[in-house]
Amino acid sequence: MTLLVLGSLNMDLVVRSHHLPQPGETLVGSEFTTVAGGKGANQAVAAARLGATTYLVGRVGDDSFGRALGAGLAAAGVQENGLYIDASTATGIAAIAVADTGENHIVIVPGANGRVDHHDVARLQPLLPQAQFLLMQLEIPLAAVLAAARAARAAEVAVILDPAPAPDAFPPELYSLVNILTPNQVEAAQLVGHPVETVAQAQTAAATLRGRGVETVLITLSALGTVCAQGAEMFHCPAFTVRAVDTVAAGDAFNGALAVALAEGQPLSAAVRWASGAAALAVTQPGAQTSLPLRSQLEAFLAAQRSTEP
Ligand code: ADP
Repeated sequence: MTLLVLGSLNMDLVVRSHHLPQPGETLVGSEFTTVAGGKGANQAVAAARLGATTYLVGRVGDDSFGRALGAGLAAAGVQENGLYIDASTATGIAAIAVADTGENHIVIVPGANGRVDHHDVARLQPLLPQAQFLLMQLEIPLAAVLAAARAARAAEVAVILDPAPAPDAFPPELYSLVNILTPNQVEAAQLVGHPVETVAQAQTAAATLRGRGVETVLITLSALGTVCAQGAEMFHCPAFTVRAVDTVAAGDAFNGALAVALAEGQPLSAAVRWASGAAALAVTQPGAQTSLPLRSQLEAFLAAQRSTEP
């Protein structure tokens, strides 16, 4: 089984302080951490930890963050020969200030992620014949996402797109190039133009998005689970009840695990349950890539859930 991911890699630079600084204020913080992230890298790690041969195609700068991200991916089992070191720019970063109250400020500088273009799609091309799925998100330029989706469809590789972060404008052509669209509540609301807060609203939104040409729509609703629409079928998969510590990368865990399960031949409803299990485990741990479960952990979690189900 081979999965391809085209997407972003970021180093998150996280500072913690009592309160957030006012403009012009200098504060002494209590903690500094660097955390590997970026939705592309997270999805690739999620899939690799669950046992898929996973390639990540993307860009980093020729700097220490880029090297650290590459090493982290290799350690997680991701094939990182799809990474291009772009010496003309810096590795993507997110500078995140978190106050003890939980409030945050985030500045993202896309750097190399913002340079992903047709050259990267050309590097993806030779990998397509062996792949079952191409996973993408929207932290790289839309033009590259569109070109990669066209190439994947031409090679009969199914496309899973997480339209995150919510785009200002979504090219209509992309709907019919995507096999599975996985927006969260905010992204779904942005795409359809009405609030998506309840299961009923998500069902309406999923029907709208299906009508625009997407084969399968999975709207993730955090602790409310996932609304799934495929063909004439519409069903709701509840989330697992867990103690949420940090919901960062829940969606990335979901997408990576979904692709693994579908590539292994699980039907959609079982694959969504599997993906929900991986996402639930991710929210019980702090961090992005650090929180993504191994296959043995996911299988043990699902077995324990099954034994407590009525
Ligand atoms: P994103 O991380 O993209 O914003 P969501 O927050 O909708 O996406 O979460 C994706 C999936 O993760 C959900 O469909 C659900 O299965 C799982 N999930 C998210 N938050 C929780 C939670 N608090 N408890 C259990 N599962 C959760």
